[in-house]
Amino acid sequence: MNIQLKPDLLRTKCEILDGDAFKRCFQKAIKVKEWIKNKPVYAVTFNQIGLIESCFVARKPKKFGFPTDIVMNPMYTPISQPQFQSIERCASFPGEEFVVMRWREILATYYDYHERKLVQHKLKGIASIVFQHETDHTNGVVCHDIRIKEKPDHK
Ligand SMILES: [Zn+2]
Repeated sequence: MNIQLKPDLLRTKCEILDGDAFKRCFQKAIKVKEWIKNKPVYAVTFNQIGLIESCFVARKPKKFGFPTDIVMNPMYTPISQPQFQSIERCASFPGEEFVVMRWREILATYYDYHERKLVQHKLKGIASIVFQHETDHTNGVVCHDIRIKEKPDHK
């Protein structure tokens, strides 16, 4: 498996995993984990590297308060109001910064392969932003589509 960033599936909604697909996805995720190790990013979603499964891999999850490294079938609901302006970067658009609206706290739901079940975590801070950013990717949504202005104010 030759892993590299590619734009082909960026705006394609990922396929929700079920049954045997979890195991196949996990085997790919292990390789993505190895690949992402030395990249300067928090996480990468499968459709950023030309894969179709609804999954993202977080690099050094403990370091930014993230509950796990392999996240399948992610979803989230806000548990704080209102949204705030978040300045973000994306591995698929190197050198660009985006101002997008995010929730500070969310209830994150995903399938945990190790526990073999759906789990829920309250997330805040960077963990919350990364979860929202990557989950948007799984829905084919990138920062270009949801940004509220061209550039951050300090630029
Ligand atoms: Zn991104």
